[in-house]
Order: sequence, then C-alpha cells, then structure tokens
Amino acid sequence: MKQEPLVGCHVSIAGGVHNAFARAESVGCTTFQIFTKSNRVWFEKKLSDQAIENFKQAAGASTIKSVVVHTGYLINLGSGKKETAELSANALLDEIRRCEHLGLHDLVLHPGSHVGMGEEKSITQIAQYLDSVLERSEGRVTIVLELMAGQGTSVASSFEQLHQIRSLCHHKKLIAYCLDTCHACAAGYDIVSADGYQAMMQQWDKILGFEHLKVIHLNDSKCKVGSHVDRHAPLGEGFIPLDIFAEIMNDRRLSDVPKILETPSDAAMKLWAREIALLKEMVKN
Ligand SMILES: [Zn+2]
Ligand SMILES: [Zn+2]
Repeated sequence: MKQEPLVGCHVSIAGGVHNAFARAESVGCTTFQIFTKSNRVWFEKKLSDQAIENFKQAAGASTIKSVVVHTGYLINLGSGKKETAELSANALLDEIRRCEHLGLHDLVLHPGSHVGMGEEKSITQIAQYLDSVLERSEGRVTIVLELMAGQGTSVASSFEQLHQIRSLCHHKKLIAYCLDTCHACAAGYDIVSADGYQAMMQQWDKILGFEHLKVIHLNDSKCKVGSHVDRHAPLGEGFIPLDIFAEIMNDRRLSDVPKILETPSDAAMKLWAREIALLKEMVKN
C-alpha cells in the first residue's frame, strides 16, 4: 500500500490555535506548521487553559500526524546588541513554554544575524543563549535550527555553521536542524540538478547527519544558486526544478521528516492545496 507522505503547509491560527487542524485538513495536509502567537511581537499573553484544551481535543480528533512550530521573526540570539539578544532569549523561552503547554516538540528557529558583530562571535553567542534557554526549559522541546539563505548579516547559511552552533551547545540532545530548499539554493548549494541534490545530501549526512534533520521547508527559489537572497517561489516557478521536489518526496532517508510549504501568496491556501496534491502525486512507492 502507498504510504501517505508527511507533507503540509504553514497554517494560520486565527480564531484560536485549535483551528489550525481543520484548516490543514481542508488542503490535504498530513502535517503542518504554525506560529503559536503573532510572529511580529516579542510576547503574547499565556495560552488559556481553554485554548490548550481545545487544541488537544482537535489534535486527538485529527488525522494530522505531526505539528511543527516556527518561532516569531523578531528573535535574534546572535545580535551584537545585548538588549536584543537578552530579549530574544526570554522570547525563545516563552515560545518553548507555549510548545510545552500544547504538547508540541519541534520548534524551528532562525539561528540569528550578527548585525556587525562578526559571524564567529555571533555563533558562539547563539550557542550560549541556546544553552541558557534550554537549561530553563523542561527538556521536552527540541530547537530546530533552520539553514538560512545568507541574506544580510544572517549566520547559519552553511551546514558547517549549523554544525558549529550545535557542537558548541551542551544540550545537544535538544538541538536539531531544518533544511529549507529555497535557502539552500540561495546559500549556494546546487539543488537545481539531480547530481547537485545528491551531492548536497551527502554533505548533509557527513556534516549534520540525517538523524538530526527534523523539518524540511519545501520552497522554490525566485533567486538563483548562491544569490544569498531569500525569496520563496511557488513550486515550479523558481530555479529549483520540479524533479528535485520529486527526488525529495521519494528520498527514503527523508520519509519521516515533515515537509512544509511556506511560500506566501494572496491565495496561499489554494496554492498550497494544489502543491500538496502535486507533491503527493510525485510519490512513487
Ligand atoms: Zn523560517
Ligand atoms: Zn525564507
């Protein structure tokens, strides 16, 4: 029997976190990603007991197999500005608490931008803050460090830097990685040919290990390999051929990894419904 692939999209929590389940199911998701609060603010009031209960009930009644959380966009543990970095650490701990309350385990984080401090210092600082935050957590939420496009002063746009952050952390068990296909392309990985894809994945295995790959963001890239510009495109409309997305969907090393579509659009849910159907059709087994 054909196994249902783990594929979905980033879903809105408008009207309450529990609403994400029905929205996700309506476009064919078997997994999805959410923010647990607005992504443009540092903090939001605690989730109420009712909101948590509603979420758990919806989860219990749903066919969705896994839920991934993405942190808000303000967090920057790598900032050279101390106030920003401190605020970011507190905001990250708050995000972890929200996941703990909802019973969710994978929290995707943009590692950070050095904002003039330099990459090396920034990476060391990110690792230190990750440890101090994880120290205060209950140890049930994994921080999933996302590969970045290398735009501006952002760090972690190479497998080596992602590895460096994790290897500097004491709480390695609670640190994993997210591969974003658009970011990989922009960062300079040759993901636009089948050979390039295989070579990139070999490198991933050697440097980061497949066992630590927890989330894949499936986005096409408006900008070419090595552009360092982070512009997502709908599948088939950017530089990454559809064949590569088919490779990913059929790559047995990735079958247990949630694959999430994120490309924004005015009619995002309609776009994602089509893309999810397309990705499911690509699966050969
Ligand atoms: Zn992201
Ligand atoms: Zn992006």
